[in-house]
Amino acid sequence: MSNVKAYAAKSATRDLEPFELDRREPTAEDVEIEILYCGVCHSDIHTVKNDWKNAKYPSVPGHEIIGRVTKTGENATNFKEGQLVGVGCMVDSCQTCSACKDNLEQYCENGATFTYNSEDKHLGGHTFGGYSEKVVVDKKFVLNIPENLDVKAVAPLLCAGITTWSPLQQWNVKKGDKVGVIGLGGLGHMGVKLANAMGAHVVMITTSASKTEDAKDLGAHEVLISKDQKQMAQHQNSFDFLLNTIPVGHDVNPYISLLKRDATMVLVGAIEPLDPIHGGGLVGGRKRLAGSLIGGIKETQEMLDFCGEHNIVSDVEMIDIQNINNAYDRMIKSDVKYRFVIDMKSLKNNQ
Ligand code: NAP
Ligand code: ZN
Repeated sequence: MSNVKAYAAKSATRDLEPFELDRREPTAEDVEIEILYCGVCHSDIHTVKNDWKNAKYPSVPGHEIIGRVTKTGENATNFKEGQLVGVGCMVDSCQTCSACKDNLEQYCENGATFTYNSEDKHLGGHTFGGYSEKVVVDKKFVLNIPENLDVKAVAPLLCAGITTWSPLQQWNVKKGDKVGVIGLGGLGHMGVKLANAMGAHVVMITTSASKTEDAKDLGAHEVLISKDQKQMAQHQNSFDFLLNTIPVGHDVNPYISLLKRDATMVLVGAIEPLDPIHGGGLVGGRKRLAGSLIGGIKETQEMLDFCGEHNIVSDVEMIDIQNINNAYDRMIKSDVKYRFVIDMKSLKNNQ
């Protein structure tokens, strides 16, 4: 075992603070990774603050991990020391159920092991994420990183990228479709970039008029301010697809009314109760409301390769780990352009 530096929250009401944790010695199947960068996802905040009522403490979040391989187990022959790799939201799954066989490990019927806050099958206790110096991961959950991209800006692809890519693929978004991305944060800005690269006509649907210019720079063809009733009325019944990244429970009815007949809105953000849904809004146009959780390892690699080919990375604000609590406060106020990424070198400054 090796003892590594990390940052943890010790309870739902405490800030993150320096912490030390153990990583296992790599087994024959494992890859040991020195973490260079880790993105900050809103799910990290939901977990630390116990919004989903399942948090385990001490909580070490972080599931947008970029690092270099430092050791490989004898069966992890696809990886070599010094190689740049990524780890996203999962580090293991049963590999035998129908979901795993369909390359959809995130829906593993026996419960995927998530990068943090899951049962740790090797050491006992729970898994610790990327706000740490090192991680040891089964080779099947380690991703190859396109070397042509700015690696620190690749980190958010491991969650924000795949979480928006997977529903765009699953619902067959194609050239010319009118696609609305709701909420311009970490997920939303990747949704705009990816939908644009797929050839869709992208509309950024935001509560923040101040983000209009940024949305266009990111690839939105139009911007719809969701608080403006007149603008919302102009877009009624016109969208082929909506991707909803709003991080809290909310009234989805005004968004459902934007869908065309037979079109779908996919929720990825609100993993909690929604305001009551009026059945008439769905029934009237044979509309669909669905959900989606991250993406499987195979499609995560496909998304990374697509981003490599199309030169797509995240827009990042780099921070030191010592500023993580301030970054959380800013994210809660929707004040991030558009993903914080921690430079893990800063962890070495802690004694
Ligand atoms: P984020 O960076 O904080 O962005 C969320 C954006 O939503 C904000 O920038 C804001 O955009 C908008 N928003 C915030 N509060 C709102 C409200 N009350 N009403 C309407 N809009 C609001 O968060 P993120 O990292 O993108 O994550 C978004 C959500 O997805 C989180 O809940 C996270 O846990 C979840 N998530 C889910 C999955 C999955 O697999 N399904 C994976 C990763 C994350 P505007 O200023 O443009 O309105
Ligand atoms: Zn995430």
